[in-house]
Amino acid sequence: MAIEKAEGIVLRVRPQGETSKLVHLYSLQRGRLALIAKGARLPKSKFGGALDVCNRIAVVFYTKETRELNYLREAEILERFPRVQADIGRLAVAEQGFEILLQLAMAGEPNARLYQLVLDLLRGLNEAESGLRNMGRSFLLHFLESSGFRPNLDRCSVCGRSAVGDRATFEIDRGSYVCAECPPAGKVSFPALGRTVEWARWLQRVPPSKAGVPAPQIVGQELDRWLWLHLSYHVEGADKLVTFRYAGRLALREGELPENGDRNGKEARD
Ligand SMILES: [Zn+2]
Repeated sequence: MAIEKAEGIVLRVRPQGETSKLVHLYSLQRGRLALIAKGARLPKSKFGGALDVCNRIAVVFYTKETRELNYLREAEILERFPRVQADIGRLAVAEQGFEILLQLAMAGEPNARLYQLVLDLLRGLNEAESGLRNMGRSFLLHFLESSGFRPNLDRCSVCGRSAVGDRATFEIDRGSYVCAECPPAGKVSFPALGRTVEWARWLQRVPPSKAGVPAPQIVGQELDRWLWLHLSYHVEGADKLVTFRYAGRLALREGELPENGDRNGKEARD
């Protein structure tokens, strides 16, 4: 039996048996980490409120070599995000980020940059008064970069110019875009406003906590649609992401997107 220490963010908590909880952390030392907290559902549990979703906690846990299970021994709160925990709008954006970590981050593989990124998102969501959705989009773009799936939005993939123009076409399969002057070269593409590309560029550059500037509705819808298409095309397992699929489909259903097929764009796959 080995005893270990770690710090992590509580992503998800589920009942386990009659009296215990299964706690999923994103930890600094071990990446995604599942811990069984025995007795945590009992009224006088020693864990108190430490296992609430969003908390940053320090844990002491032990593993049994014969089984793939980790057991929580102690948990102490290091940081809370009360406005995120109490507000459904803030919590929804945090949970999008958590879902990415739960579904796409590798279990047992630490990634200090990703850990700082999710902390930055939570701190930003706890402080922000507006632009929450863009914080979530920025988090996703930074996650894509840290996973090697960064969309290349620095310049048009055909002419190489950085000026976008009024209209642009995201090339989903190539992970790039073409400007208003150039014909799309990708096989799967998605026509959008030029300023949507410019917003996406900005969201790639700023940390999530600084991305709390509301985008115009049409831009937000195009960003959600494009992010969902990019993610589901390039990242294995993205089809499990319920929250982003919902945002992407919602953007489509609201019908304010440019018609598929105009400007030589082919219909992007869903
Ligand atoms: Zn061009």
